[in-house]
Amino acid sequence: MTHLSDRVNLISESQTIAMARKSRELKAQGIDVISLSLGEPDFATPDVVKQAAINAINDNYSYYTHVSGYVELRQAIADKFKRDNYLDYTADDIVVSTGAKQSIANAVLSLINPGDEVIIPAPFWVSYLEILKLAGGVPVIIDTTIENNFKITADQLKAHITPKTRMMMFSTPCNPTGTVYNKQELRAIADVVKQYDELYIVSDEIYEHINFVGGHESMAQFPDIKDRVITINGVSKGFAMTGWRGGIMAAPRWIAQACDKMQGQFTSATCSITQKAMHAAMNMPAESTHYMRDAFLKRRNLVLELMQDIPGMKTNVPDGAFYIYPEVSSLFGKSYNGFIINNATDLTIYLLDEAHVALVPGAAFGDDKYIRFSYATSEDKLIEALKRMKEAISKLS
Ligand code: PMP
Ligand code: GLU
Repeated sequence: MTHLSDRVNLISESQTIAMARKSRELKAQGIDVISLSLGEPDFATPDVVKQAAINAINDNYSYYTHVSGYVELRQAIADKFKRDNYLDYTADDIVVSTGAKQSIANAVLSLINPGDEVIIPAPFWVSYLEILKLAGGVPVIIDTTIENNFKITADQLKAHITPKTRMMMFSTPCNPTGTVYNKQELRAIADVVKQYDELYIVSDEIYEHINFVGGHESMAQFPDIKDRVITINGVSKGFAMTGWRGGIMAAPRWIAQACDKMQGQFTSATCSITQKAMHAAMNMPAESTHYMRDAFLKRRNLVLELMQDIPGMKTNVPDGAFYIYPEVSSLFGKSYNGFIINNATDLTIYLLDEAHVALVPGAAFGDDKYIRFSYATSEDKLIEALKRMKEAISKLS
């Protein structure tokens, strides 16, 4: 007999990871699946980073580190925040973790009590909701629209704040919509936040380097609310290091200390070798990863262009990250061979079966009228995937 905890039963499997697993299984059966499901750069980790890790192994960096990470690494991260984002943090305000995912979990589990309300603008990244559920928090979802480029407005935020609101969680650039907030839009959010002393913002900036519209704007740049911002970052996306597992949080010291305590019971620290690699990444000049950003921009334009030929795909123009998030509800009610498309989940099942293209349904991000493409793959594969999708969708009637 199995006897799982209520806690684990409460949460769902990560749907991005589930879709990646399904496509790996189909590939293992010899089916030529093109996976546009998992958000991970297809580039190799930069050579200087790899070399730093090799040196670290040879130099015997093989012992437990400080739970929050080597102090020199945290100092390099503080220097990066100063250099790139004009943010003043000290090494003591920073906690290095096993990924932005753990950094978010540390912050939520450290700050949220059962019953506390957390505002999450939708579409949101898949794990926010599940991590929040683990903490017993109550999600308050604010819907945004394609027409507003999926941005939440200050008025919307204000209208959802209650005496129980403790946090807002969002990403810029956004996964899954690619939306990038500019300085004025963040300032408008800050103007609301500053009126509520107990409201904290988890600002997930992991796609900082994949921004097609110019400089990255950090939520913590506004001095009047900086003491209520938890800045999340990491090396997975900007430095093509998803498997290394390195995450970053910068926050007021009392929050950093709480997260250090939490992490000290869960994972101790991330891998010592990864930390040395992260240190090299932090010291790289910002321009040195622009070749990846430029390739992503080219692919975004390619996919947007090819998508125009596929009926039923209504999309914004994403300004960052490497996702496209079309609204597909005009295909609902159509069918092929008796399989009826009732929602975006059905469409992703159909496209996986019929076109052998793996995508993630919008249900994972808060609305099952959308599908998410990750275009972090080669142009050839993107062209082939879109061709197959066009054929499969043309069979629906
Ligand atoms: N936040 C967002 C918005 C993401 O897309 C991801 C992707 N994995 C993460 C956090 C977690 O990243 P990491 O690999 O650093 O855990
Ligand atoms: N963040 C990526 C995505 O959204 C990786 C998968 C995950 O960590 O859930 O696809």
